[in-house]
Amino acid sequence: MVKIYLDPGHGGNDPGAVGNGLQEKNVTLAIATRVRDILVNEYSNATVKMSRTGDQTVELIERTNDANAWGADYFLSIHINSGGGTGYEDYIHSGLSDNSHTANLRSTIHAEVVKLINMRNRGKKKANFHVLRESVMPAMLTENGFIDTKADADKMKQNSWLDNVARGHVNGLAKALGLNKDGGGGGSQKYVEVLVDSLWTYNSADWNDRAVTVGKGEVFTVKRDRFPVDGGHMYQLKSGLYITASPTYVRAYTK
Ligand SMILES: [Zn+2]
Repeated sequence: MVKIYLDPGHGGNDPGAVGNGLQEKNVTLAIATRVRDILVNEYSNATVKMSRTGDQTVELIERTNDANAWGADYFLSIHINSGGGTGYEDYIHSGLSDNSHTANLRSTIHAEVVKLINMRNRGKKKANFHVLRESVMPAMLTENGFIDTKADADKMKQNSWLDNVARGHVNGLAKALGLNKDGGGGGSQKYVEVLVDSLWTYNSADWNDRAVTVGKGEVFTVKRDRFPVDGGHMYQLKSGLYITASPTYVRAYTK
């Protein structure tokens, strides 16, 4: 598995940059959450940890310590710029050469983000940022537009733009790190088998929206691969119902 550490910039007491009715901490979380969901749903060999999943205050040193302790293969920090410019740019640590492994990975991801972000390309840059310096694995930091420039901020207010930016980051990560698509046209189908005597299914992706119970040995066809739901994971079944993805309760297999 490829371990990807996603770091939505700022959070909690630290809003980051603000402008045009937006706070950086919310935009970075919206992008990072989308990146996580696409990676978990669509790739079979990616595992993701986030520095925060809500509006929490997390110090920079906590972020890099967490990624280092987890043994991440890649550290991706997501930010929004300010200062009156426009467009996209990204950073690796200032001590790295242009032909370093980290620089090569960044070039691959940069190319995919700029394809989809629909903003001026300000280029590939270097800086002595904490998260780039103190992370022991290859790391990059993206600055996805300027929050205090109306044209950029207007894009940040659109879900379609957030989706595209996330998709650009994912496409870059997939190329750079060799991620594999789940059953992408390979003709393989995923199934889940129930391992316990009685297990709830759900009408929607909501642990409170119980439907019917199913029993040990029953097998269902997976429509949507495992995705995060409020502290856990679910599959959506071909029937439209949802079921836990916890390996304590179900066994997933492909054939
Ligand atoms: Zn920032």
